[in-house]
Amino acid sequence: MTGKIWFVGAGPGDPDLITIKGRKLLEESGAVLFAGSLVDQAATLFTPEGCDIRDSKDMTLDEMTDWLIAAANQHETVVRLQTGDPGLYGALIEMTRPLTAAGIEWAVVPGVSSAMASMAAAGETLTLPEVTQTVILTRVAGRTPMPPGEELEALAAHKTTLCIYLSITLLHKVQEALLAAGWSEDSPILVVQKASWPGAEKIVRGTIKDIKRKCQDEKIASQAMIVASPTLGAADWPDLIRSKLYDPTFTHRFRKATEKQND
Ligand code: SAH
Repeated sequence: MTGKIWFVGAGPGDPDLITIKGRKLLEESGAVLFAGSLVDQAATLFTPEGCDIRDSKDMTLDEMTDWLIAAANQHETVVRLQTGDPGLYGALIEMTRPLTAAGIEWAVVPGVSSAMASMAAAGETLTLPEVTQTVILTRVAGRTPMPPGEELEALAAHKTTLCIYLSITLLHKVQEALLAAGWSEDSPILVVQKASWPGAEKIVRGTIKDIKRKCQDEKIASQAMIVASPTLGAADWPDLIRSKLYDPTFTHRFRKATEKQND
């Protein structure tokens, strides 16, 4: 028999944040390979008895694909459970290509990414009318270099929301890049560690200038999202430009304007 391999986004940590489709697949899976360092083991709560569950923490990519192929030869449903969304820093294509080459069917189930979970945890918005309508999901160069043109300094020049993954130990590089792009030292920065993890989430608010020290004080050195955005703190601004979508003078597909439209 040859089963199908599902790359399932587990979400950011809280097991309730997996999709219903992801959970159903876990419930019918014969084998699950989960990304141990970040997927809360709780996500494997949904697997049936007798399911072959393996942590991939210490495996190489080749070992993982070999394991998945062997599992697909024994079970109809095999799940590769990944943190957040499988398509973001998830080595997805590196894993699917050998499966395709081996003639094994695979598909992806999206997940709630940690950028969204971090902003939700802090009660912040990724976009705000006339402030920013763009979100950049990125990282700074570590062992993986950034392709030309994607240096944080260049991206930050747009002054949009920046969700910076995999970079908490490189916070000094983030500070330097934002300053070089013209952000002021007192621009707000948000760091969320273990967003949505029951009992473990930490939210740190600071500025470009002091965020590094604040993270050191909180001993945050891993599993954290850095957000720089002109929207941060908007919940407390004295004035806010209201979203046109909910403006009573704005007609759209689902609602007729109740007052005369201005523009
Ligand atoms: N596919 C994942 C990202 C994997 S890369 C996703 O969509 O979220 C791992 C990086 O994701 C970490 O370095 C950290 O920056 C971020 N991350 C993952 N889980 C997180 C969480 N619960 N809270 C904050 N950041 C998290």
